Amino acid sequence: MYIGGFQKISLLDYPQKICSIIFTVGCNFRCVYCYNRLLVLPEFYPKSLSFFEIKDYLKKRKGLIDAVVFTGGEPTIQPDLIERMLELKQLGFLIKLDTNGARPEIVEKCIKEEAVDYIAMDVKAPLEKYKFITQVNVDTNKILQSIKIIKSFPAYEFRTTVFPGLSIEDYEALFPLIKEAKRYFLQECRLQNTLQDCSSLVPFSSKEINFLKEKASKFVDYCGVRG
Ligand code: SF4
Repeated sequence: MYIGGFQKISLLDYPQKICSIIFTVGCNFRCVYCYNRLLVLPEFYPKSLSFFEIKDYLKKRKGLIDAVVFTGGEPTIQPDLIERMLELKQLGFLIKLDTNGARPEIVEKCIKEEAVDYIAMDVKAPLEKYKFITQVNVDTNKILQSIKIIKSFPAYEFRTTVFPGLSIEDYEALFPLIKEAKRYFLQECRLQNTLQDCSSLVPFSSKEINFLKEKASKFVDYCGVRG
């Protein structure tokens, strides 16, 4: 596993649990608003951290840390993702996967092999705008498949970064994709140091984001906003 970063403690990244975060290197998307160039662009890739050192660190903190989050980059492109998740699960940690949903077969395998306890998927745009946001050719059927698989899992959330390069109407067109989901979050977008220069864009106002929250709430059980 190519690991570009390790955050020892977070109180925010696994619902109601204290977690550590493993940041994997490499992504199959190039989202215009991505600020993780170290984990996304090969020319900036850092030297890999050792999974075994991280595992050793976690082993010594069992009881203090409840969960481990695999995020990226895009963790599902790591060939040994499930093996590594299971290693940490066997130590007694809850495991969360953050994914962009482009590889439903891996998400499904994580579930089948009981390697994961919580899944968070980014739903980036209405399907016809995926290419504009991700700057790659996305098989949007795979996005739909991932949504379907994740919805049948007990503990999950979908989330959308609200990027002002798309319109309010675009986001309204996205919400039916996650119809009847249990938990959904709208995330405010950072516009500095992004893969493409977004600094001239004007972020959505709180009023606009609240409007979107109201609209999204009609499709999902719970909708929240994250700053
Ligand atoms: S924001 Fe997009 S490019 Fe950046 S890590 Fe996430 S999926 Fe990959």
